[in-house]
Amino acid sequence: MRPTGKLHLGHLVGALENWVALQAEYENYHLIADYHALTTNLDSSALYQNSVDMVIDWLAAGIDPAKSPIFRQSQIKQHTELHLVLSMLITAARLERNPAVKEQVRDLNIENITYGHLGYPVLQAADILLYKGDLVPVGEDQLPHVEISREIARKFNTQYGNVFPEPEAKLTQFARLPGLDGRRMSKSLGNTILLSDSPGEIQRKIRSAVTDPLKVRKNDPGRPEICLVFTYHQKFNSLETHEIETNCRSGALGCVECKRRVGEKISALLTPFRDKRAYYEAHPDEIREVLADGETRARDRAEATMTDVHNAMHLG
Ligand code: SF4
Repeated sequence: MRPTGKLHLGHLVGALENWVALQAEYENYHLIADYHALTTNLDSSALYQNSVDMVIDWLAAGIDPAKSPIFRQSQIKQHTELHLVLSMLITAARLERNPAVKEQVRDLNIENITYGHLGYPVLQAADILLYKGDLVPVGEDQLPHVEISREIARKFNTQYGNVFPEPEAKLTQFARLPGLDGRRMSKSLGNTILLSDSPGEIQRKIRSAVTDPLKVRKNDPGRPEICLVFTYHQKFNSLETHEIETNCRSGALGCVECKRRVGEKISALLTPFRDKRAYYEAHPDEIREVLADGETRARDRAEATMTDVHNAMHLG
């Protein structure tokens, strides 16, 4: 995950819930993709603090660093080394067809894409293959990148010998939570609810969420199937979803009340998270220890993989 600072609900639903569940069953590696962050923002001055903020959110969400190493991409030099090797195995035309990059170019109004930005799925392939990952827990929007990683792994294995497993995507059922304006939830689009938001901030933000545009007055019948707030009820208030749906359709429920109710559910869900967050913010030494330990363990694994790569390529 790129260190863009504090995380939002979309991260919790699309990634963190999945990661926490998976750590009981799998050996997980949690990468802070600080080099990746440079693809869309050259200013690196906040990268360290953003990484720390993100690690705090990960720990507060339940990632256990003793089970699953947490580490920064920039501190494991083998990422850039493997990236170079892998970049020979894919064409520029293939990268230009990548729908995820096309979407970013459109959303961020990028006129001239850099070499590094176009090739970031190759760096991502290195991030996965360096640890010989079998499964990549991702949101739907990252599926094209996992496909690129699979293609590159196949190409390497065919060219030099079997070193890498072909990684597969592990999607969550509710992988993509829309933002308050109905578009993908993203900090750059200003439509997020942060995991660290207070109950008051959550209610204020929810009040701005888009609903059924034809439900103007409280008693107008609504169409929950096209309403963003109803999507949030389905995710965060499943016990009351049926009643909300019925009362929205009949006009018995107004949008103001409906939003207040889902805001309360989201606040309640995030209360234990905020408490844990406060603890880690007060103990920065623990965060530094988590990173130092994770980086040592990740480096050992990365070195072993690069030995396999060099041997397969007769560069050993
Ligand atoms: S009542 Fe709720 S579900 Fe219905 S349109 Fe308003 S916000 Fe959406």
